[in-house]
Amino acid sequence: IKQLVGSKKHPYPDWKEGGSVPYAALCKTFELIDQTRKRLEITAHTSLFLQQVLRLSPKEFLTVVHLMLNRLAADYMGVELGIGESLIMKAISESTGRSMDKLKSMQSEVGDLGLLAYQSRNAQPTLFKPLPLTVDKIFQGLYKVATTKGDGAMGLKVAEIKKLLAACQGEEAKFLVRGLEGKLRLGLAEATVLQATAQAMITHEKTKEGKIAKASDLVAAEDVLKEVFSGLPSYEVVIPAMVEHGIMNLRDHCTMQPGVPLKPMLAKPTKSISEVLDRFEDKKFTCEFKYDGERAQIHYVSKTTTEKYASTSADPKKGLAAIFSRNSEDLSTKYPDILAVLDQWVAEGTTSFILDCETTAVDKDTAKLLPFQTLQTRKRKDVAVEDVTVKVCVYAFDLLFLNGEALVHKSLTERRLAMRKAFNEVKGEFAYARFSNTDQVDEIQSLLEESVKSQCEGLMVKMLDGEESYYTPSKRSHNWLKIKKDYLAGTGDSLDLVVLGAYHGKGKRTSVYGAFLLACYNPSSEQYETICNIGTGFSDEVLANLHKQLEPHIIAKPKPYYSHSTVAKDQPDVWFEPQVVWEVLCADLTLSPRYKAAADSVDANGKGVSLRFPRYIRDRDDKKPDAATTARQVAEMYRAQDSVSGSAKKGGVDD
Ligand code: ATP
Repeated sequence: IKQLVGSKKHPYPDWKEGGSVPYAALCKTFELIDQTRKRLEITAHTSLFLQQVLRLSPKEFLTVVHLMLNRLAADYMGVELGIGESLIMKAISESTGRSMDKLKSMQSEVGDLGLLAYQSRNAQPTLFKPLPLTVDKIFQGLYKVATTKGDGAMGLKVAEIKKLLAACQGEEAKFLVRGLEGKLRLGLAEATVLQATAQAMITHEKTKEGKIAKASDLVAAEDVLKEVFSGLPSYEVVIPAMVEHGIMNLRDHCTMQPGVPLKPMLAKPTKSISEVLDRFEDKKFTCEFKYDGERAQIHYVSKTTTEKYASTSADPKKGLAAIFSRNSEDLSTKYPDILAVLDQWVAEGTTSFILDCETTAVDKDTAKLLPFQTLQTRKRKDVAVEDVTVKVCVYAFDLLFLNGEALVHKSLTERRLAMRKAFNEVKGEFAYARFSNTDQVDEIQSLLEESVKSQCEGLMVKMLDGEESYYTPSKRSHNWLKIKKDYLAGTGDSLDLVVLGAYHGKGKRTSVYGAFLLACYNPSSEQYETICNIGTGFSDEVLANLHKQLEPHIIAKPKPYYSHSTVAKDQPDVWFEPQVVWEVLCADLTLSPRYKAAADSVDANGKGVSLRFPRYIRDRDDKKPDAATTARQVAEMYRAQDSVSGSAKKGGVDD
């Protein structure tokens, strides 16, 4: 670390031992991180700063980690930043005395709202030097901005931002505003913060013992934190336990708990049954129906159990019943009808569990599966059981926790067996995902056809035994493969893309947008990379709704983190903040100078991958923009095409 980033001395006279962490000190670290794209250096700066926090202000360690991740709470708490551009501009204008017109014209030169705030703030003559900001004050302020709701919320948010801006000095305004926007854009990924946290903690502990942390100590500490965090992804629980008990003892104090949702395991796409057979060779695997609904993780603790879940919302006396989305959002108020009948399918002896499943719309009389579009008509929040019009059935396919014990390190065969004993099927309400353990091509083929006939998307093929069948949270794994009906029609996997811009409609579409500019996401550069224009697949009704949905997100200029063509004729009529994600299918992928998707990795001449004949399938409101299809996945899909991987390898086709 010293070799990479220099000395350990902290240059902040305001930072006293036992006192609060000056926000300026964190911003200085952000600046250092901002100057490099090298992951090792970013990790070293982060780790060094976290060591100082542990030494001087250990009580604020969690707050600092949250601010480094630009988060205010775990995902399931639903506290989010991502404040709209117009509101931030208003606050900058009011706190610096610059008119909105002046700010808008400055913004078209500067681009970055953070820089705009920094320039405006520092051009202001200040009579009194404001009191230095602390990370605690910033955190409380951001929390207030994110959680203020109801009448007059906008005014209160602007007032709070103004207060924070007025106290900013130097670079602070830049990072504050980027934080409010929801993107620090420092290349500081969650995995890096986690790694740096482990490094800082073990170095701090060893130093206190008068020892030096060796490389092997760092690796061991990183492994512990990664493992514990994947089963219990909650900084609020893990960080205080780590500071109290020491990082190497963390496994004894933090294990999976109902109430803290895990990031779900995901599947890799396959193009054919023969590809599945090649992948699994002589290993045992199972083919399950891929239900077309919404991923749901059900957490439960019975009222009578004596199991202890100290840090979750599960009060052992009251029990717990909650449903989480694939984003770890709390869906409990969307599915009160499921929670109301949960006790009826829980078998005797089942006291606590975490169940991985799909909620699927079903006909209320026949219990037949209905298409995803029907499920989408359900309200997303605050549903009353008596108002439920679309009935859902829960299809369970995995059990991650049962009666106080995590099952993720057991084989799928064992987990499935445990699951089948822990519940009772109830027609039209709760069922196990249909499966067959066959490895015969014709049987798989007919199962696939049957799944499609029953309104399913295709099959999920999963490894059954041994370590390869363990449940790996948040991983898109080769041990889970999906075969969708679309692949068989030759169209390949669908992509989930972010809407960045739109074109005004022509002819009968004049009052709405007629086409849209879409992008994939590149997590390493934190850029949205354009991939296609789309105008197909929308009904008139959908277009009218999209216009209403997108209009509040219009921004004057593309964000600095949009990677797009700068040629005048390629510009959309309006730009949007990155908010909306759509599922899109296409005929194939090609190369084009107009788009930027995966341009770094597929073509030396700066051409990006683009979609031919893209078609809108549906809104993916269960995905956040940074969970969109990644540039790397786009590159993989492009390379996997026969025309690219086969004899025509050398040249793509321009559109
Ligand atoms: P997709 O567009 O295919 O849903 P995704 O990125 O949301 O993509 P994938 O990993 O590609 O997720 O596909 C797995 C999804 O399929 C799960 O998130 C889940 O919602 C759904 N699903 C339906 N049936 C099953 C099943 N039997 N096993 C696992 N997942 C299933």
